Amino acid sequence: MASEAPGTRGARAAAQPRLLKLKEMFKSKFGSIPKYYVRAPGRVNIIGEHIDYCGYSVLPMAVEQDMLIAVEPVKTHTLQLANTNPLYPDFSTSVNNIQIDKTKPLWHNYFLCGFKGIQEHFGLSNPTGMNCLVDGNIPPSSGLSSSSALVCCAGLVTLTVLGMNLSKAKLIEFNPLRATDVKLPSGAAFVIANSCVQMNKAATSHFNVRVVECRLAAKLLAKHKGLQWDEVMRLEEVQAKLGVSLEAMLLLTKDALHPEPYSREEICMCLGISLEDLRTQILTPNTQDVLVFKLYQRAKHVYSEAARVLRFKAICEEAPDNTVQLLGELMNQSHGSCRDLYECSCSELDQLVDICRKFGAQGSRLTGAGWGGCTVSIVPADKLPDFLANVQDAYYKRRHHSEAPEKQNLFATKPGGGALVFLEA
Ligand code: ADP
Ligand code: MG
Repeated sequence: MASEAPGTRGARAAAQPRLLKLKEMFKSKFGSIPKYYVRAPGRVNIIGEHIDYCGYSVLPMAVEQDMLIAVEPVKTHTLQLANTNPLYPDFSTSVNNIQIDKTKPLWHNYFLCGFKGIQEHFGLSNPTGMNCLVDGNIPPSSGLSSSSALVCCAGLVTLTVLGMNLSKAKLIEFNPLRATDVKLPSGAAFVIANSCVQMNKAATSHFNVRVVECRLAAKLLAKHKGLQWDEVMRLEEVQAKLGVSLEAMLLLTKDALHPEPYSREEICMCLGISLEDLRTQILTPNTQDVLVFKLYQRAKHVYSEAARVLRFKAICEEAPDNTVQLLGELMNQSHGSCRDLYECSCSELDQLVDICRKFGAQGSRLTGAGWGGCTVSIVPADKLPDFLANVQDAYYKRRHHSEAPEKQNLFATKPGGGALVFLEA
């Protein structure tokens, strides 16, 4: 029964003003009362950028901003979606024939992915219909994962309506703090600052190139060491197959790869394959026209960043007197590596990081995919009020006069809670 599922809070809805507002809007939209309220938080990645898809762990923290969905199951096999934000139009579909149009970045597609994901995971043949009202306050396209919060929240909504116990559904997937908990230092705050540059969609092509560069680097490193390179897809697999440290992988990168960009012809020669093989078996459909690849720089970023995540975790566990300073140094190194080796920063992010350091951050870095979006800084707790006032003045008042003042661009984060289901009281 849903009310016994872990992560479910019964009889709490009435106490929350945001839920009450949502309930009123739900009533006027659907003429009925929601049965459940489900939330999934956004997250900020404290360290470990662009290494997850290479097989390495990262260090995200849930933030207070979240996706909240009010839901009512219906008997009609129709899924009706509405949003409190008029930017996101209503949507309705039959649950028996869900089509996800991947060519368009429509908001309801994220919901459908979560919905369909659960149906498919449990092999359900007769999905229930539902009415849903979505209310999100995670700034979109800023590196705080508003899209994955929406997918997770929709998945959790679907599970809840099906009356399924969360523990049957890999709770870990709905929780951004996956795997081991890392205790962050108590004497410091993490501050998120939005550069106000929206990660533009051109960034997606840069992103695709980075993924392929990492794959190619992994294959060249594997070939250099006489491994079965054609099966290798990720930089982490090379390390695992060799059974060596990240430091050893950095030395190998230096030995086996050169800093000059690689042409397709050179890559083909190194691997002993034809251009046709490269195109059809290694490159993705959206990287067919890329002519040069920076393999040394990308591999160096990934292995050094993976090592920084481990150092960060170790420092948090050891908690020496200068913890905040040490963590800050790692975050600064991470930003430098993202900027110079991975080339995923931009001038506004670099300026913002400089301003944050100038006004008391021990460390500051871009977070999320980069090319815009947010920075995250570690700030000693006693410096926080001055820090916020000075950064507000130096970056937002001076440089971005026109930004809507109600938009929350700069805020300290208390680590937020995980995904939750509220029951209607
Ligand atoms: P990020 O995940 O880093 O925030 P993305 O570009 O991946 O950025 O995702 C942003 C998209 O997520 C938006 O264009 C929209 O489709 C969807 N989204 C974000 N917030 C909401 C919301 N409150 N309601 C509906 N859809 C949302
Ligand atoms: Mg996203």
